[in-house]
Amino acid sequence: MSRAWVLGVLVGVGALTVAAAAYQGQAQGPKVVEVVKLKDNLYMLTGGGGNTAVFVGSTGVVVVDTKNPGWGQPILDKIKELTDKPVTTIVNTHTHGDHVSGNVEFPATVDIVVQENTKANMDKMASPPGFPAASGPTIFQQNPGKGMPKRTFKDKMTIGKGADEVDLYYFGRGHTNGDAFVVFPALRFAHAGDIFAGKALPLLDTNNGGSGVEIGNTLAKAHAGIKNVDSVITGHSTVMTWADLAEYAQFNKDFLADVQAGVKAGKTPDDIAATWKINEKYKGYTIQDARLKLNVAAVAGELKK
Ligand SMILES: [Zn+2]
Repeated sequence: MSRAWVLGVLVGVGALTVAAAAYQGQAQGPKVVEVVKLKDNLYMLTGGGGNTAVFVGSTGVVVVDTKNPGWGQPILDKIKELTDKPVTTIVNTHTHGDHVSGNVEFPATVDIVVQENTKANMDKMASPPGFPAASGPTIFQQNPGKGMPKRTFKDKMTIGKGADEVDLYYFGRGHTNGDAFVVFPALRFAHAGDIFAGKALPLLDTNNGGSGVEIGNTLAKAHAGIKNVDSVITGHSTVMTWADLAEYAQFNKDFLADVQAGVKAGKTPDDIAATWKINEKYKGYTIQDARLKLNVAAVAGELKK
C-alpha cells in the first residue's frame, strides 16, 4: 500500500473501512474540490483528504494543508477561481500524508511553515499505528527540493500584519507531537487540523509523537491560550465553534480518566474498550470500535511508562 492513505476520513466518517478510505484517496476519477465560503477572504476546501483553508490577504494567499498526493494542482486551480493573488505561504498543521502531500505541486517559491517537530516527522513520513508501514521514498524524496518546510516554529509564530495576520501556535502533544493551531485573528477563525478532526475519538499517532495522555491537556491549553476566536475549521469535519473545542478537550480528558480507572481496577485494555460507553452529555460523537480499541491500548501503554 502506498503512502496515500486518508487518515482523517476514518475520523470523519466512522463507517468507512481503512480500505475504502484509502481507495477514496487514490481513486482515479476526477479530483473534485468543493469550496465552502466562510468569510469574504476565507474559504474551506473539502475533498481529497484534510480540510484546506484558503486565506486571501492583501498581497497573497496563505494555504493551510494541501491534501493527498495529486490534490495540489486541483487546490491551485480552485484558488484561481477565488482570487488573482498568488499563493505565498503554505502552513501544514501536521505531518500526515492527507495534509502535506499536495505541497510538492505548488511553485518552489512558496514559503512552507510547520511546527519544528512536524518538520522532523516529514523527513520520515512514518505511518500511524493501525496503518500499513510506509515503505520506499517519501513524496518529498520523490520530488527533491519541493514541498518540505522552509521555516519552522517552536511555540508561536506570526506571519503578516493587521488584516493579513496569521498566528501559529503549538501547545503540546496530541494527534502527533507537532500539531499547529493556525489563527486568522482579524476573522476570529482558526484551523485546528487533526488534533480536532471532528467529534470522534482522535487518531493517536504514537509513531509521530502523539499522546492520548496529553491530548486533552493540549486542547484545553489551546482553548485557554488562544483569545478572540469564534469558529474553528476541523481536520476533516464541518466548521465548529470555539466552545466545541473546549468540549472536545473535556471529552479527551474524560476518556483518559476512564482508561486510568480501568487500569487501576486491573482490567485489560480489551476489557476497558468492551465496556466503555461515551457519556451522554457528548452529543453527535462518532465512536468507531476499532479506533476505541486502539486508543484504549495506546493510553494504557502510555500510563505504564
Ligand atoms: Zn492527521
